[in-house]
Amino acid sequence: MSDLRDLYQEVILDHNKKPRNHGKLDDANRELEGYNPLCGDRLTIYLRVEDGVVQAVRFEGSGCAISTASTSMMTEAVKGKSEADVRALFDRFHALVTDKAASGSEDDLGKLRVFAGVSEFPIRVKCATLAWHTLIAALEGQEKLVTTE
Ligand code: ZN
Repeated sequence: MSDLRDLYQEVILDHNKKPRNHGKLDDANRELEGYNPLCGDRLTIYLRVEDGVVQAVRFEGSGCAISTASTSMMTEAVKGKSEADVRALFDRFHALVTDKAASGSEDDLGKLRVFAGVSEFPIRVKCATLAWHTLIAALEGQEKLVTTE
């Protein structure tokens, strides 16, 4: 178990150090800012959505390692997915980090399972889910700042 935990930690540290899809998306058609006042995580999600499918997603911002890694991995996980699939994936992810029994196959989460350890640190749940809340709100057409409070 501790080996697995080390591996998880490595993945998170790697994404924190080298965030994927970091930087502005020039042809974005949605853009939304999210803020977690508890930790100070602040990010902007850029999306290009066509026919209900996330064609491209990038982000800017600064936050703790958990929030940066979670945002980075989220951008990889949702690209090419429909809005409904993104929502279903977030439900699974949220269940994982809050340690609630998730329905469906664990495999659906893929690499996102590295965040399972977050459930032991309730204050970190908002760090791990900020990007997701912001993404879902952007998909719903919200234009106002998303905060976790
Ligand atoms: Zn944080």
